[in-house]
Parts: sequence; C-alpha cells; structure tokens
Amino acid sequence: MNNLSANTDLYDKEISSRLVDAAKSSLPIEITEHYHDLLCWIDSVLDSNLRFARPVSEFTMQRIHGYYPQGFLSASRAIICKQCPAVPLTQFGLRDDALPSPSDAAGFTLRDMYFVTHESVDDESTHFHELIHVVQWHILGDECFFHLYASGLLSAGYRLSPLEEIAYDLQSRFDSDDAEFDVIMEVRRRLANLRVQ
Ligand SMILES: [Zn+2]
Repeated sequence: MNNLSANTDLYDKEISSRLVDAAKSSLPIEITEHYHDLLCWIDSVLDSNLRFARPVSEFTMQRIHGYYPQGFLSASRAIICKQCPAVPLTQFGLRDDALPSPSDAAGFTLRDMYFVTHESVDDESTHFHELIHVVQWHILGDECFFHLYASGLLSAGYRLSPLEEIAYDLQSRFDSDDAEFDVIMEVRRRLANLRVQ
C-alpha cells in the first residue's frame, strides 16, 4: 500500500511554458523546426508496439510501489524488447552520437510508455529510471519535453542533460537508500527550480 496521490493528470502549464520558452530560445531553428517530425515518429513507434505494452503494475516488483502511486503504475505501460528503438537523431537535426547507442540502452521512454530490454526487465532500478521520464513527460507535455531534452543534449551532453541528471540522481537515491519518497513531487520540485542555460 502507499499513500501517494493517484492523480495521473500531472501536466503543469506554468512549469512547462516557462521551460519550453527557455529551451526554444537556446536551440538553433534547424532543431525546433523538426518538432512535428518527432511527433510523427513517436506516434508510429507507439502504434506499432502498442499490442506488446503491459501496465507497469502487472510486473512483479518489490520496492517501486513505495515510490509511485498505484494509479500511475497502472496507467504507465512497459514493452519488453530485444533492443530499444533507435531515435533517428540526424533527422531531428541532432548528431547521431548525441544519445547512447540503442544496443547499450537498458530502457527508453516515449510519453507514458517505456521499452525495457529482456536483460533489464527484472532490474527494478531500470523501471524506476524510465518511470521518472514518464513523470517528466506528463508534467511537461510533448513540446516541452522534446525541446528541453534537445537543448540539454546540445549544451551538456546526454548524461548531464537536465532531464537525465534528475533521473540518474533520483535513481542513485533509489539504489543506495531504502527510504521511500514521493517521486512525482520530487520531480515536479526539481523541474520548477530548473534553469535552462
Ligand atoms: Zn534516462
């Protein structure tokens, strides 16, 4: 049982509008103009994998229920795959080495769905990390998530880009400490305090 809020309508207009404006102004126009191509790509990847998606609440996990509300885990879905999808980075104006190779990725999130490889499906820490991206995506929406993620890749590289930094930092707290915390509240707090360079 957990006492976390079951509300999955997490979109935060104030945080999202501030960050999308800041991220857009830091990005070259060649990237911002690919936003609609990205939406088409996401839709096609999700459409072709939808039949394999299972609610995260159906996976056997020991700890994750203490960090995310049950309603959020039922509404979020995971797809077990051999290899995570490859983002056509150059099509979106980014360098093709901006993200780790799909063959190295244990998980990959698109909106409220994430891919997890066969090797990592029993690794609760990987689910925990990808669910943070699901939370970020809910709070920010498509437009802000894309622009913020792209601006982070350009200014700081994959590992230190702000959305990954939040995910890796909270994941290491999950890995090293048993004290449960409200992930949604913590991600919202960090996004509210985020400054785009
Ligand atoms: Zn990540």
